[in-house]
Amino acid sequence: MTSSRPAPALSIVVPCYNEQDVLRATAATLLSVLDTLIANGEAAASSAVYFIDDGSRDRTWAIISELSAANARSHGIKLSRNYGHQNALLAGLLTIPGDALISIDADLQDDATAMRGMLAEYAAGADVVYGVRRQRQSDSWFKRLSAAMYYRLARLMGVRLVFNHADYRLLSRRAIETLGQYQERNVFLRGIVPQLGFESAVVQYDRGPRAAGESKYPLWKMLKFAAEGITSFSAVPLKLITLLGLLVSLASFATAMWALSIRLFSRSAVPGWTSTVVPLYFLGGLQLLCVGIVGQYLAKIYIETKARPRYTIEKVI
Ligand code: UDP
Ligand code: MG
Repeated sequence: MTSSRPAPALSIVVPCYNEQDVLRATAATLLSVLDTLIANGEAAASSAVYFIDDGSRDRTWAIISELSAANARSHGIKLSRNYGHQNALLAGLLTIPGDALISIDADLQDDATAMRGMLAEYAAGADVVYGVRRQRQSDSWFKRLSAAMYYRLARLMGVRLVFNHADYRLLSRRAIETLGQYQERNVFLRGIVPQLGFESAVVQYDRGPRAAGESKYPLWKMLKFAAEGITSFSAVPLKLITLLGLLVSLASFATAMWALSIRLFSRSAVPGWTSTVVPLYFLGGLQLLCVGIVGQYLAKIYIETKARPRYTIEKVI
């Protein structure tokens, strides 16, 4: 591989929400990886790690402050409250200096040594490098199955996602500047980044279990995130409603014709209760479902038109 770019000032961006149990270990790992990269001439001496405190309620910010006092390569950004993983990450990406930024979760699930491969791709000209999990053995069968179904569904709906890629990725300064132009409030970086364009590459790594502490993504948050990902990038559900409405109308019309023909051309008793009540309930349910989906998009428009700040930085150290 020919290096066409000089070693970049690398910034590692780590969103942290109540991560007091794992933060010191994470910092030690990331700083030692960074030191090695700098020693090898793969990253510039001005490279650093930035921890974004996403409104934690535990000792996370106290630990971040200690870390930055102890190590010149360790910095912190404190958000004014909890804005959620994606917004915290965005706050970091749009605030932190550096020629190349790598985002990684605070729980050490992603193999930090894969950063070396990311930098090699950057040197070779890639502006976006996706960290892709080689296997998901450390996840529960439920998480694996739901993830596989989700990627399939997203693709059907026309949402471009990179399979088995989460938020472990390298973005060049150029890519970050383009990202800054995406003004939406409903941030789903996995969907936005492939839309940035530029030359991209993939680096594979093994994903382990969380080093300490517990997942900040319970099932309901995961489901919300999944729905957000699709409704932020695709209008297909709205089109499906139209189609569904059309099909059901046709079926109802056929049923009505059948009921009418019995009434007109046969001597049998009054057509039963069932044929009246079943479509009634069915249509009622269907209408509710459809109104619900339309509502999802309406809610998005409501949120977007308010154009509230996506994050507020309280302090930078
Ligand atoms: N996170 C955050 N704000 C939140 C929730 C999570 O900044 O409101 C961070 C968290 O500290 C971690 C990353 O997002 O660095 C991913 O969270 P987690 O590892 O709990 O998710 P999982 O790997 O279980 O999907
Ligand atoms: Mg995790």
